[in-house]
Amino acid sequence: MKDPEIIYFSHCDAAKRIFCLEIPETCPICGETIEEETSSLLSGPRQVPCPFVSATDAPCSILIRPTLGDFLHFYSNSADLHIGVTDSKGQVFEYDSQGVKKSRGKKRWDQCLAIPISPQNPDGRWIQHWDYTLAITAGMDTWSASDYQEDGINCYSFVLTFLKMLHVPQLKPSLSSKQQFCSDFMVSRTVVAAKYISLYRQVIRDGASVISAKNNNNCKIDVNDHHSQKPSNPTLSGVTEMATVTVTHP
Ligand SMILES: [Zn+2]
Repeated sequence: MKDPEIIYFSHCDAAKRIFCLEIPETCPICGETIEEETSSLLSGPRQVPCPFVSATDAPCSILIRPTLGDFLHFYSNSADLHIGVTDSKGQVFEYDSQGVKKSRGKKRWDQCLAIPISPQNPDGRWIQHWDYTLAITAGMDTWSASDYQEDGINCYSFVLTFLKMLHVPQLKPSLSSKQQFCSDFMVSRTVVAAKYISLYRQVIRDGASVISAKNNNNCKIDVNDHHSQKPSNPTLSGVTEMATVTVTHP
């Protein structure tokens, strides 16, 4: 089942936003009944863009998910992250203690952070190059189950090897080490994810959370920034201000 999405609105005080999963019967600020007609609201309801996507919606991307559990319910700052690559059909290739496998992203990869790596207008040639390089990488002898080491040859090694074999000049500086790749592409995304997760858990706990609209520092997630995202790619809003990779054809 898909996790519910966070919405927000203002009822009686434009300076305060009420975050919730569904509009409550009464306003947590004034206590008045909220009419079903949303015209009784001062603003909203609007959706807080979720930073997570399903693999099937993120073809030709690098994907990140917690090694155990999912982001919304299990993730903590100290949790290990697992990384994989989608082909042009959104099927995930990943390397772990069972070797390389290709999984249909339905369940295991239905809530992940995506790093899209593609030209502005990917054409058939680029997609072919991506899928071909991914198949070649996955077929290498390096990725046997017995050679897997949690702190050595692991999921990051697989992804970095693939990206190196993709031969994208713009990516090269970020591929010098796992640490460099993490700091260039992963840290900013996990920060946004952590803010969303924090807000989600607060709303689950409290039912409806009132947050001052004026003081964004107190706001668990910067809604204004998210709404300035390009509408052309709504599933990735919230992460588009971060390091993304736009490549030229190899
Ligand atoms: Zn009210």
